Amino acid sequence: MSSAREPDWPTPASGGAAAEFWAFLRAGELRLQRCRECHAYAHPPVPVCARCGSLRREWVAAQRRAEVWSRTTVHAPVLPAFADRVPYDALVVRLDEGVFMVTNPTPVAEPLLSLLEVGDRVEIVLHAVTDDLTLPLARPITPAQPAS
Ligand SMILES: [Zn+2]
Repeated sequence: MSSAREPDWPTPASGGAAAEFWAFLRAGELRLQRCRECHAYAHPPVPVCARCGSLRREWVAAQRRAEVWSRTTVHAPVLPAFADRVPYDALVVRLDEGVFMVTNPTPVAEPLLSLLEVGDRVEIVLHAVTDDLTLPLARPITPAQPAS
C-alpha cells in the first residue's frame, strides 16, 4: 500500500552502499550485498568484506525468508514522526542468508503490534510508505494446513 505523502518520515541515506540497498527496495527488490571473493553476505552494506577484506561486492536477490531473533514493543517514540504510531513492535530477524535486519511486523492491525515470537518464521514483504521510501517488513509464514 502506498500513501501519497508522509513527509515527516526520515529518509534513507543518500550516498554509499546503503543508498543502493534503498534504491533496490524502491524498485521492488530485496537485495543483499555479497562478497565476490568469499561469498559472505553483509547487512547493512559495507565497502569492504569483513571476512576477507575484498573490495569486490555484488548485489544478490534475497530469499526473503527469516527467523525472528528478537522482539520488543516501542512505547516512547524515538522520533517525533512516530509519536502517533506508538506502541509498535520492532523486530530483529535473521535472514536465511545469515545476516540480521531490523524491521517491523506487517501492518495487519492497529496498533502495529504483532503476535510474532522469537523463533517464528517470517517472509519479508516490501511496503511502500512514500514514493521515495519502501520498507522491508516481516509477515508471518502461515503453516501449511494439513490435507483433509
Ligand atoms: Zn569476502
